[in-house]
Amino acid sequence: MQSEKINVTVWNEFHDDKRWKIITDLYPGGVHEYIGKILKEQNPDFEVTVSTLDAPSQGLSDKLLDNTDVLIWYSHVRDHLVEDSRIQKIIDRVVHEGMGIIFLHSGVFSKLARTLIGPRGGGAYREIEELERVFVIDRSHPIADGLPEYFEFPASEMYSEPNDIPTPDELIFISWYAGGNVGRSGYTYKRGAGKIFCFTPGHSWYDVMRYPEFHQVTANGVRWAKPVQKPAVQSCGRIEALIPQRTEQMKIEE
Ligand code: ZN
Repeated sequence: MQSEKINVTVWNEFHDDKRWKIITDLYPGGVHEYIGKILKEQNPDFEVTVSTLDAPSQGLSDKLLDNTDVLIWYSHVRDHLVEDSRIQKIIDRVVHEGMGIIFLHSGVFSKLARTLIGPRGGGAYREIEELERVFVIDRSHPIADGLPEYFEFPASEMYSEPNDIPTPDELIFISWYAGGNVGRSGYTYKRGAGKIFCFTPGHSWYDVMRYPEFHQVTANGVRWAKPVQKPAVQSCGRIEALIPQRTEQMKIEE
């Protein structure tokens, strides 16, 4: 039996990539093209589409969104431009229909992430190309499949505690940085029928996203976040009793 394809959409704000040659030298075509290419090459069961915020329908038409099992969002400074109606449509897909979503790096601070997951405060960060050592702390979690006890990105941007995020449902990775700080770097939430994975390494000026462990985590995240099933939309609003009931009013009328 042929296994079912997972429809993955890699959506990038695509702003820094167009202005900094150093980014496209590392990630040809932009972060979305690079991540999309890697996911496609390494995972034959993924059907990958890439899109950008500057495309028509902000790169995420209703048709594309309806056909997406897992959305990967990468943003830095243009996340506030995503229209409220687009955000609501994405949230509906996640919460009501079980679409998975992965927030990479600064995407965890985005308007979309804050609206979907809940209000968050700030987080500490530093850009000095320091070593990041990512420890797997939930070894039985599917997102940790195939990974060693810890792995490293030699030049990374630090995202450390204090990091005022809603308490995650699951904490999978914690990062230690050569500068001495630590931070939660891989964690999950569930909202309604949908699964959410946040992975903080990945500053686009650095080569973090070129490492095999980054590819493994992202692919594992897609497999974990895909809809568990595709149920018909469940009844919401006022519904009839599954087992007919006699109300007080009926008793009076009898
Ligand atoms: Zn960054």
